[in-house]
Formats: sequence, C-alpha cells, structure tokens
Amino acid sequence: MIRFSAPPSEKAYRLVLPIVALALGACQDQVEVHNERAFVMGTLVEISATGVGAEPFREAAGAAFLEMRSLHDALTPLDGESELVRFNARGHGRWVALEGPLTELVPRALSVQRASDNAFNPHLGRLVALWGFREPPFPGRPPPEKAIRGLLEAGASQPALALRREGSLEGRLEHPGATLDLGGIAKGFAVDRAVAALREHGVDNALVNAGGDMRALGRRGERPWRIGIRHPRREHHVIATVELRNGEAMVTSGDYERFFRAEGKRFHHLLDPTTGRPARRAQQASVLGPRATESDAWSTALFSKGSQGLEALGPGLPGLVIDTSGKAHASPTMRRRLHWRSEEILAP
Ligand code: ADP
Ligand code: MG
Repeated sequence: MIRFSAPPSEKAYRLVLPIVALALGACQDQVEVHNERAFVMGTLVEISATGVGAEPFREAAGAAFLEMRSLHDALTPLDGESELVRFNARGHGRWVALEGPLTELVPRALSVQRASDNAFNPHLGRLVALWGFREPPFPGRPPPEKAIRGLLEAGASQPALALRREGSLEGRLEHPGATLDLGGIAKGFAVDRAVAALREHGVDNALVNAGGDMRALGRRGERPWRIGIRHPRREHHVIATVELRNGEAMVTSGDYERFFRAEGKRFHHLLDPTTGRPARRAQQASVLGPRATESDAWSTALFSKGSQGLEALGPGLPGLVIDTSGKAHASPTMRRRLHWRSEEILAP
C-alpha cells in the first residue's frame, strides 16, 4: 500500500525494516551488492544492485527515488495541490482533464477494476477517508453504520468513472459518493517507474523493494534475485521464497499494514467494495507478474475476493492467498514458483 504521511518518525523506520529484510539479498557469497534506501511514498524503499560501480549506482538510485517522489506528489490525496486532489475537487457529473501520471495510471486502474469484477475499485476515496485509513493515527473504532450506508447509497463503491478522449484524456465521476483513490496501485506504479529510471541509468541488475512491492531486473550475480513472503501474523517468519525472473514483480497486500482493533475484531485498510467495510476473506494476498503496477492492483483485488479470486487472475498472474483461518491457497502457476519454508502454514 501507499502511505501518504508526513516525514517518517524513527518508529516508522523500525516498523518497515523487518519487511525490507525479507528481500533476501544479504547472503554470504562473493557478489558485491550496493544498497540505497530512502523514505518515499510513506514507506522505506530499498534498491539493491549488482554489476555496477558504486558511484553510477548512487546516481541511478537517486534518479529512481526522485521519480517516486514526484509520483507521490501527484497521487497523494492529502495535498491540495496534487493532480489527484485537483481532479476530485471538480466534483462529479462533469468531464475533467486527467493530468500528469493520471493519464497513464487511471486507464490501467480501470482495466483491473473491470477484470476483477470491481474487487479492485480505484475510486473508494470517500470510504477510505470515512474509515480513517488515510494517515495514522487511525480512529480506533469503525464509523457509524449510517455513514457507511449513506456513502454506499451515494454510489461510493459502484463502478463510477467514465473516460473519453477529447484531444486530451478526460474522466467523469458518475456518483457523488465516489472520489479517485489510487492507494491500491500507486506504489506498484512507482516501483515500475523506478525500475525504468534504473535501466535508463545503465543499471541492469537490481531489486526494488517498496515495503512489499518488489520488482527485479536481471540477476544477483550468478543467481536470480530471491525474495521472501512473510507470515501474516509473524513479521519475521518467512513462509516461502520466490526467485524473480528478469523484470518480474511480486506484490503483497496484508491486513497488518494499517489497522486498528475494536469490538474484538481487526479493522484494516483493504475494503470490500460490496460491503464498504474491511474485506473478510484473507489475511494476505500476493501476486506475481510482469509489472508491479498490475500486480499491486491485483493483490488488493485478490485480498478482497479471497481464494475464490485466484481464478480471475489467469495464468499470467500467479497468486497466493492466506485465508482468514491461516490456510494457504495458490494458483497452479504460483505453486510451481514457491519454495515453501513454513511448517506452521502448510504448503498450498
Ligand atoms: P498493502 O499492499 O500495503 O496492504 P494496497 O496496495 O493493497 O496495500 O493498497 C491499500 C490502499 O488501497 C488502501 O489504503 C486504500 O487507499 C485503497 N483501497 C482499499 N481497498 C481497495 C479496493 N478494494 N480497491 C482498490 N483500492 C483499495
Ligand atoms: Mg495494492
């Protein structure tokens, strides 16, 4: 997910580090691996690379972070100047030009929305704000029933964004309950842009890890980049590893990223558009694929649908779901890629 928050506290760094450690790069072999870290899009982003000099790598990583920062500035719902907020501010029922990265990202988000049967919904902005998941501290109790129902009746979670090309690309929000919120896809998009920036700077072997949204380029010396998938309830426990091929992405969404507890339940930031409430079919969902953008959107969709969503992904996007009882489910293409480690959770 993407956290649009103020500069990180030290605590935030500590929270993110264990996830980064799951990019299993630091083995005891002879390969020289360079690393650069920066806090971008509300998460600690780590870029690792091999086969490049230290100085050219530093420059390339700097360019990648800059690209991610500019995407954050365009896509954050918290800054009145962002292209996203400016689009939403024009209200519903009228055609508004899409600006900056929205021109590429919104059509891609709508494709996943259609293909996932609205499980990924890129205009849940008002519901996300109502639940208070935009930035910590989270509210500690769910919003009133009436408020949720009111937004659903105002079309908050129905497909509600039309596009047309009148010279430039324009979008129209169809219902008053809907505002654009690209939190479920923006971080993957930023990872793809970071990877493109690295390539442009001559880096051909790298791993970008933005708090669980990962994409690999080339290899880590003699072997592929290897990443770990964490246990949804035990931060430091790796349940399986996957070797990423050149250009491949792996994105994980989990109910432990942003949540609060109330009434004996966990309320988290991944909403089920059919109910307007936190989805209740999974603890964690991971999606492999050729691009982090689509893997990110699909990991959110898969989380919302649970294991029954695996089929909708198709063979080109291998998926893994840990359901609410802690049981693992995977598509056949994912099963072939997983090196299972956990004894606590049985291999799918
Ligand atoms: P993470 O991978 O870190 O768990 P995601 O990438 O899945 O998070 O994105 C979560 C964010 O996406 C939420 O904070 C919210 O802004 C938005 N969101 C929540 N539910 C949905 C949904 N069903 N479809 C699309 N976006 C969603
Ligand atoms: Mg996502």
